[in-house]
Amino acid sequence: MERKPLIAGNWKMYKTLAEAREFAKEFAAGPNEWPDVDVVICPPYTALAALQEALEGSAVMLGAQDMFHEKQGAYTGEISAGMLKELSCRFVIIGHSERREHIRETDESISLKVHAALSQGLTPILCVGENLKQREQGKALGFVRGQVEKALVDLSSTEMGGVVIAYEPIWAIGTGKTATSEEAGKMCQAIRTTVAGMAGGVAQEMRILYGGSVNKGNIAELMRESHIDGALVGGASLKAAEFREIIQQAR
Ligand code: PEP
Repeated sequence: MERKPLIAGNWKMYKTLAEAREFAKEFAAGPNEWPDVDVVICPPYTALAALQEALEGSAVMLGAQDMFHEKQGAYTGEISAGMLKELSCRFVIIGHSERREHIRETDESISLKVHAALSQGLTPILCVGENLKQREQGKALGFVRGQVEKALVDLSSTEMGGVVIAYEPIWAIGTGKTATSEEAGKMCQAIRTTVAGMAGGVAQEMRILYGGSVNKGNIAELMRESHIDGALVGGASLKAAEFREIIQQAR
């Protein structure tokens, strides 16, 4: 089964509006630059409109870093899927470990967001991954499987096929430590098997990414793993030249 690689940049809480515009100028992606790879940038909300304008007609798609599950209402500080779509977002990161940790997001709220994103036509990039203690105790696989099952509960098979999952071991995020490509590949395969248990054959179509200190030096090896279909890139997506290089290497 051919799955089109996906490279997504997660800018986290970095870049002012001016810096985002500067990045877009330097990145300067043409319309057909990477026909064989999907490229997504997920900036802070405040830079979405500027990037929508700056990236128009380019090969780069836009994503957000989170959303709320309700369509509208008295939810101060929250942003809906409809609002993101208005800014041309096609993707939305859901359940990033930093949100699970600092904002106390739960499997239940993450599941609501995945459902809402899909029903409003956004592709969720669902993040899962174990911490160091869980890995050392041999509990990584069971934990990640549980996260996947709880986030995707009650979705139809077709809906599940429309989700992107990013396996991001917490101990590898922003630490410079990458899981070996073999470790990452095995976990991505286990995630696919979990989804197959829930949704059957559609699991073969689902894109599963690796995230955690991905850079231009390790992406090619990670991409050689048959169950890794791309990467969610944090720090290394902030520099236009390095992000470009990662996309080239992923091809
Ligand atoms: C991330 O933000 O999802 C991430 C993987 O970060 P980094 O690449 O910096 O480890």
